[in-house]
Amino acid sequence: MSDQCVFCGIVAGDLPSVRVAEDDTTYAFMDINPASEGHLLVVPKRHSRDLVDIEPDDLAAVTLAAQRIARTAVKEFGADGVNLLNCCGADAWQTVFHFHLHVIPRYADKSRERLAAPWQPGVPGDMDVIAALGHRLAAALD
Ligand code: 5GP
Ligand code: ZN
Repeated sequence: MSDQCVFCGIVAGDLPSVRVAEDDTTYAFMDINPASEGHLLVVPKRHSRDLVDIEPDDLAAVTLAAQRIARTAVKEFGADGVNLLNCCGADAWQTVFHFHLHVIPRYADKSRERLAAPWQPGVPGDMDVIAALGHRLAAALD
């Protein structure tokens, strides 16, 4: 638990939240600035800063909880799809530094959401650069 962390405060019950689900290791609650109808967050109860920091067992538990909740949210809200989103680092849009997965139901009816694709799908990159980066990463993972 981090004293400064708003999500630790929510998990502990010291700060209010609209609880959706919880188990021994995870807690899910509604996002107060929703990008769509039903937008919620799933967090590990144990504090970790981000995707790089989180322990594998907490990451697995949060991911499985997010899948379970996403399935139900799609059915319950009549959603047409769902995005799972994680932001890791301020330059990747992270604003709360306690690991969380966004579960964002998506709708064909755009009056029920306010999202735009964060990149331009279908715009090709430089194949030489793509290959060089891929090979470099593969070598670093060996
Ligand atoms: P990030 O930008 O770090 O990926 O996402 C942080 C999310 O937490 C944002 O979508 C923001 O709306 C949400 N958020 C920030 N503070 C609170 C809070 O006090 N309560 C709830 N329920 N959500 C919060
Ligand atoms: Zn925390």
